[in-house]
This record gives sequence, structure tokens and C-alpha cells, in this order.
Amino acid sequence: MKQETIKKLESRGVKIKDLVPILYDLQKPYIPELTMDQCEESILAVLDKRDIQHTILTGIALDELAEKGMLDEPLLSILRQDDGLYGIDEILALGMGTLYGTIGSTNFGYLDKVKPGIIKKLDTTPERVNTFLDDLVCGLVAAAASRLAHRNKDLKELNIKQSTD
Ligand code: MG
Repeated sequence: MKQETIKKLESRGVKIKDLVPILYDLQKPYIPELTMDQCEESILAVLDKRDIQHTILTGIALDELAEKGMLDEPLLSILRQDDGLYGIDEILALGMGTLYGTIGSTNFGYLDKVKPGIIKKLDTTPERVNTFLDDLVCGLVAAAASRLAHRNKDLKELNIKQSTD
């Protein structure tokens, strides 16, 4: 299902390589030795989780149904207009961000606010319904960022322990 999820993201205009620099910029201030390869690895590792795959596939399915006009009103118009008071897209994606710890919600909030790179583009693609997709991308990157942060801390603690053993 991981490959299907990656393919589905690509079919909606989101490539993993678009997300790598966003994650890098987000975590570089905290992990100075961070590399682009580690960022890509973290995104792919997060995509191994079934919860992440389910969230992405569910959100994109709703975007696609809205795009095809296959949802009933009033939900159809709400999704097509990306109604500012509709917050279910954020709630769904936020769940993904916090799978790797609570700092995922901070990362998610930051990405949702600043909308770096592809996230801004998705938010302003008028011919497509990307109501869920922009938040899903924020959630995916937020989860990968939290994973990196926790692993980095684990690694540091292990180094301290080894140097004092
Ligand atoms: Mg949205």
C-alpha cells in the first residue's frame, strides 16, 4: 500500500522530492548535521505506517470525489470552495502529524501557516480540489520532522551514555 500511496500523491502533483527540502529547512536549525538523504529517508519511513497511508488515501479520495462532483450538497460546495470554517481536513491531517509525538502538532501548525514550497502551490491551484491535500502534505512532513527530532535525541543520549560508560 506504500507504493499506491506514493503513486496517488504523485497523481495529485506531490512528489517526495518536493517534500525533502521543506523537511530539511524545518529541521536543519535543530539538527545541524542533517542531510537531504536523511530527510528523504524519514519521509519514506513515515510512509511505511499504515495509519499514514490510510489518512492520505482517505483525504485524497474526498478531494477527488469533490472534483468529480460526486458528493452531495452542502459538503460538495464546502470542499470545492475550501471553506475556511471547514476544519476536518486539518483534523484528519493533524492526526498524522502527532503519530510520532506531540511536537508533530507544532510542526503541522507551522507548515499550515507558512505554507512553504509545494504546499502554497497546492493551496492555490484553482482548477483542482486540494482541500485535503495541502493539509495531508503538512501532516506528512510534520510526522517526518517529529521522527527525525526524536531519533536525533535518542542518538545524542546514546552518544553521551557511551562516552561516560
Ligand atoms: Mg486544506
